Amino acid sequence: MSIEEEIDRAFKATGLLSEVVAGYKRRIEQTEMAQAIGAAIKRKEPIICEAGTGTGKTFAYLIPAFYYGRKIIIATGTKTLQDQLFDQDIQVVRRALKIPITVAKLKGRANYLCHHQVERTKSERSFTSLREVELFNMYERMLDTSESGDISEVNMPEENSKVLSSVVSTRDNCLGSDCPHINKCFVLKARKKALAAEVIVVNHHLFFADLALKQDGFGELLPECDVVIFDEAHQVGDVASQFFGSSISTNQLNELLRDLRYGSVMLEDGSETVNELVDSFEKGVRDFRLSFEGLKGRYDLRERSRFSKAIEHSSLLGLISKNLAESIGSITLINLELQHCRERLLDVVIFLEIWSDQDDRSVIRWFDSSIQSVRMHLTPIDVAEEFSSIVMDGERSWVFTSATLSVSGDASYFTQQLGLESAKFQSWDSPFDYSQNSVLYVPKNMPEPAHASYVERVVEESIEAICAARGRCMMLFTSLAAMRAAGDRLSKILKDRNEGIPLLIQGDGSKFDLLNQFKNIRNAVLLGSHSFWEGVDVRGEGLVLVIIDKLPFSVPDDPVTAGRIDYLRSQGGNPFMDFQVPEAVISLKQGAGRLIRDETDMGVLIICDPRLLSKPYGKKIWKSLPTMRRTQDLGDVTSFLERA
Ligand code: SF4
Repeated sequence: MSIEEEIDRAFKATGLLSEVVAGYKRRIEQTEMAQAIGAAIKRKEPIICEAGTGTGKTFAYLIPAFYYGRKIIIATGTKTLQDQLFDQDIQVVRRALKIPITVAKLKGRANYLCHHQVERTKSERSFTSLREVELFNMYERMLDTSESGDISEVNMPEENSKVLSSVVSTRDNCLGSDCPHINKCFVLKARKKALAAEVIVVNHHLFFADLALKQDGFGELLPECDVVIFDEAHQVGDVASQFFGSSISTNQLNELLRDLRYGSVMLEDGSETVNELVDSFEKGVRDFRLSFEGLKGRYDLRERSRFSKAIEHSSLLGLISKNLAESIGSITLINLELQHCRERLLDVVIFLEIWSDQDDRSVIRWFDSSIQSVRMHLTPIDVAEEFSSIVMDGERSWVFTSATLSVSGDASYFTQQLGLESAKFQSWDSPFDYSQNSVLYVPKNMPEPAHASYVERVVEESIEAICAARGRCMMLFTSLAAMRAAGDRLSKILKDRNEGIPLLIQGDGSKFDLLNQFKNIRNAVLLGSHSFWEGVDVRGEGLVLVIIDKLPFSVPDDPVTAGRIDYLRSQGGNPFMDFQVPEAVISLKQGAGRLIRDETDMGVLIICDPRLLSKPYGKKIWKSLPTMRRTQDLGDVTSFLERA
């Protein structure tokens, strides 16, 4: 039997999946997608697959990958999806196909104890309480008792981030192939185990971190693989920008200072000069940190006059770092710690030089300031060339899949972002009957979103629908401020009307807890901002109404958005239509996708933003949504919800 026939056999109504999946139903879209992915894997080509909700895209990529692939990396959008794929979907497919496939889930280095860090933390004796010492001792004992060094093996009575961060490694302080503990290293063991498996499940961040690992002497996962699958691929552009760019935080500089102190204590000669320079490095870091005082949020460094003090101190710190690196370099009997510190200092010098230099237009210079730390960023304007050079090498097949990759069926925003214009794109609509099961309502007479009473009007326009739905509603906001204001207003109205509908508001608990409460209460309204637009799956009658306050355009004065807008404009493009609208469409499709999760689900989507109908681009946006029945009549909505 050919592999194409095997795939058909797996997806048939009475096929292999039907034997292990309760209530299995054959979906033609799913089989087509699986065959398309199978063909791409066979030819070692990239393929981009958009699959509407309910297509069953996970099985559609797992089954051909298992049949054709020798070694497969699957990268999911989040750790939660990584767990779900590893613990559930892959196990189902293994049982269905009855083929013995080894699978490993790889975690980031912060999940494993580091022998070197434990050893040096012990020698520093920097803990300030007996409790911290006890927790540290537990981790230290684990070095000898644990096979994997996975910190989740120990059920800690409480989380102590200070102790935890002192027993795991970071990319900065890992000694890599120079480490005296390399033969026992838990991070390395986990990677070796992953490399031995046929299927490795990672998340997007880990995948890109792995691309950067080569120079640390760990060996990459990628060269070993013949299939790479990105699930939730609409997020890949953003993650790639983070990893192809670079950043340094003041916390990292303080860690470097700590490592410099540790290394210089062990010096046999030249310690005096080094110590003096380490003192000035400490002062340089402190002054640099102080130059951001009072700033909270994300800022564009192009406002040079506003941040002249920070730029001045960054140049000074760069100079101090350079002198210190040179001084360390001149020591004859240098220890391993200082050797690594020297390399890190040189990285700091290069980073700060680029960060404070305005001439290079290929990167966006910005910083993110909070009470705890300031992180300086260099974000590339464009990752297409770099990413496509990895994907288009013909060595393996790449599969990109998500429910939200296109704008009105056109995936060029996604493909241009990643340099994948020549890759095949195929799209399968959701098999759900949206025209029967759902309604899209855009209220009449809403003010423009910038209007002072906008949030109030969102609540007023939603209240009848919320009551008709008897709660069971999720309100998605484009900002935390709007969410909080709406929460206050809604709480008052519901109380006055004595509706007995409870409110759950983002921030009142973890996302996981709030969603569990929402599912259990069954008549609540859940208000959330960005993190609730994706990864929320409430099936059945528990969610029948999704309300979206505004079209989710990214904030134009955010430094990264502003940098991209200016760049596109300088290239003669139309940043609004080429970048902001497609981005908003993808986000809106994600938000709207929370409503209908199953074949029998019913529900109403309310988009309060009048621009959906009044602006020329509005048509492009609503045409990208599933084909719901559209109305502007509130009566249609309430009667539909009363039946739902
Ligand atoms: S190689 Fe890195 S992670 Fe492993 S023990 Fe050494 S320092 Fe720690």
